[in-house]
Amino acid sequence: NPLVASTSEPEERVLEAALRPKNLHDFVGQQRVREQLSLVLEAARIRERTSDHVLLSGPPGLGKTTLAMIVAAEMNAPLRISSGPAIQHAGDLAAILSSLSEGEVLFLDEIHRMSRPAEEMLYMAMEDFRVDIVVGKGAGATAIPLELPPFTLVGATTRAGLLPGPLRDRFGFTGHLEFYSISELELVLRRSAMLMDLKVNSAGFTEVASRSRGTPRIANRLLRRVRDWALVHQKEQIDAQLASRALDMYEVDTRGLDRLDRAVLQALCTKFGGGPVGLSTLAIAVGEETETVETVAEPFLVREGLLGRTPRGRIAMPEAWAHLGLTPPETSPI
Ligand code: ATP
Repeated sequence: NPLVASTSEPEERVLEAALRPKNLHDFVGQQRVREQLSLVLEAARIRERTSDHVLLSGPPGLGKTTLAMIVAAEMNAPLRISSGPAIQHAGDLAAILSSLSEGEVLFLDEIHRMSRPAEEMLYMAMEDFRVDIVVGKGAGATAIPLELPPFTLVGATTRAGLLPGPLRDRFGFTGHLEFYSISELELVLRRSAMLMDLKVNSAGFTEVASRSRGTPRIANRLLRRVRDWALVHQKEQIDAQLASRALDMYEVDTRGLDRLDRAVLQALCTKFGGGPVGLSTLAIAVGEETETVETVAEPFLVREGLLGRTPRGRIAMPEAWAHLGLTPPETSPI
């Protein structure tokens, strides 16, 4: 079935890669981070040195990996990609660091999930471009110093606060990525539609953008789903009505809330009477890890004015009840 083949994994991945902006100029939105980063990179180029280490924080899908690729491209340097969870032993990190070439950009995603010993090795590597490799055990253990070529670390984390202070302090520049506005997402979508050779009118872009949860990765994914719908229904042009019918079918709601967002709000309203309830209790109620609820679902719900954080716990805001079609209890928690 050619339609099934057209949405198979490899094509999705090929498209994702093709849609990634390759330089700061094509990177939409995040104006402050873009300007600051551009200055850091320009200064490094003038000084003919490697750039300072860069920390990027923000919810998933806002462009951290893309920015790391752009840093490497703008510095004309090769890029190595790894992640915190992949580095469980200091030895794993030593192997990566010792094989870096001069000026290389090392991207560590989810850097807050690295093991403690690896983290300590990273401090020294970032500061002095040197690591101590420990050989042997107990009284006979010796540390052999190993010089490293200068490199630039780009670390990504869903929340800078999850990082221990000493690690955070070793980054020369920290950029916090914010959710994108609807008009910024429209720009992302216009660029993607052009690259995918799709005909979408301006209301069609607005419809997809407003359901994209402030996130370019989601915007691109929804655009692909709408494209599928148009293909199957033999429609040439994507307008607001077509986009909304397609996205209703995929259960993406009009405010872009996904399954986890809705589960959190639903639990908050129906199981805890709108709160206040502690974050970990809420996470258990939806069967997710506390960190996922805190760093993936919550930032968007707070930004949308659906969930509130109080010293006594999380509360459902009046709009949350309305959005779920529920009636708040008489004595509101706020
Ligand atoms: P994660 O932390 O989950 O890896 P991320 O923040 O690294 O997510 P990316 O993988 O960089 O997110 O971006 C996801 C997709 O969104 C990319 O394929 C890219 O095409 C698109 N994208 C992200 N940011 C932008 C942007 N500013 N302009 C245009 N497209 C973007």
